[in-house]
Order: sequence, then structure tokens, then C-alpha cells
Amino acid sequence: MPASRPRVLLNFAELEFWPAWLLRARRNDHARQLATAAWLVRRKADGVYLACLDAQGQASHITPRRTVTGQSSILPDLQQALLRIKRPPSPLPFHALEKRLGSLGLDAEHYARSSGLARMAEPNWLQLAGFDRYRRPLWLQPAAARAWQRMQTAAREDGIVLEAISGYRSHDYQLGIFQRKRARGLAVDAILQVNAAPGFSEHHTGRALDISAPGEPAAEESFEHSPAFAWLCDNAARFGFHLSYPRHNPHGICYEPWHWCHLPHHRFAS
Ligand SMILES: [Zn+2]
Repeated sequence: MPASRPRVLLNFAELEFWPAWLLRARRNDHARQLATAAWLVRRKADGVYLACLDAQGQASHITPRRTVTGQSSILPDLQQALLRIKRPPSPLPFHALEKRLGSLGLDAEHYARSSGLARMAEPNWLQLAGFDRYRRPLWLQPAAARAWQRMQTAAREDGIVLEAISGYRSHDYQLGIFQRKRARGLAVDAILQVNAAPGFSEHHTGRALDISAPGEPAAEESFEHSPAFAWLCDNAARFGFHLSYPRHNPHGICYEPWHWCHLPHHRFAS
């Protein structure tokens, strides 16, 4: 295993730079390019791979060429972007939030007022925090990633296995959840009882984590009866994780015993 495999996700308004070793080729003709690339540029709106970058940031197009015409000229500079990881993540400016909500028939101001939820910015970079139940890379802000790994280790020492179900999700990814559910015939109002609108989910911040345990279904209320949940109630606060949506929360969101958020300054709270 190369020593210098990157373990960060570099985040931009419309693009993400993924460490290439974390991605699988979707087409045979991608495989060779991916095998030699350090980074892969992915369009957030639809997950399309746009370009490979070598460690120096030189871009080569992913085929088919027509989907990437002109893209390399607007690629952010890799070396500049890597400077980000010398500092804690900072929030990306909100991008196309009104447009995403409008596509669901929602108004940002009205939704914010009626839900009491705040707009949640994406961070400009994220840390690999391990892998989730489905062996997908788990991205969190660095402090949350460290806290999660420490908490998982502490739980294991107490005989409890904690599994991540979902960490960071982009605004675009959240919109995709709505689009898929609507395509299955669900109304936006019904989806909003389970998912915050794009731009308003704590998962956008890279500090929220859905947790389960082996044998427990993902994101089910029954998790509250598991030994893992009991352990979390007793111990998660020590690691800075708090339950965001308890029963009868004021946001109209269902009780979510699986959803925990890392509050970064908990050590300094009075
Ligand atoms: Zn969640």
C-alpha cells in the first residue's frame, strides 16, 4: 500500500476531489486511468467522474470525452486546494440553495421558519473516518472523525460494536434522496418528516453521523432498544456526540435515536 494515499475529500461548490484509491472504475476504459491517478474529480450533482489528476495536479480526461469538454480549464488548482488541509475546515458559501429547494416546490425562507432548522454549510474539506456498514468511505470533519474513531474503540472495549450508516452528505446528495423518493411516489411533505430539505441537514456539516449496530436495521426507531443505543446514551457525550432529534423535537422531524452530531467545542462548554 503506498504510504501517501490521500485520506481527505476536497470540496468545492460543484465538484469534489476524491482520493482515486477509494473509487472503483465504473467502466473498463476508466480502470487504467484510475489505477494511475492520485485524485478523481467528481461532479456533485450527478456523481459523474470528470477527470483524473496526478499527484502534481495534471488533469487527464475521463472518457467519454464529450462530457468533459473544457472541464480541465475550470478545474480548481489541486496544490492550492491541498493547502486547505493545513487548517480546520471552513464552510463553503451556499451555492444554488434556492434552486435546489425550488425544484422541490419549497421556499428557503418559509422552510427555515416553519421547520426551525438552520441552513447547514458544507465544509471545504473532510477527513476519511473509516468505512460505513456498506463499505463506503465515511467522511467527517477531522474533529468528528477522530471523536468517532475514539468512541468506536471505547465501545468495542465495552463489548459494543458501533457501525456508521451515513456521515457527510452534500446538498446535491440530499436533493438526490428527495428525487429518488419522489420518483417512488412519495410526496415532498412526507419526505420532510424523515429527511431535512437539501441545505438543512446536519449531515452537510460533516459533524453528523447515523449509527447502528450489527444485526440492527439502519435508521429505525427500534435502535433505541439496542445495547448500542444504551451505551451511546451513557457515553457519547464524553466524545462530544449528542442526539439531535429526540422525541417531540420542535423541527417536525421524527425521533431519530440513530442520528448523533459532534459538537466541536464541547470540551470548552461551560
Ligand atoms: Zn442522520
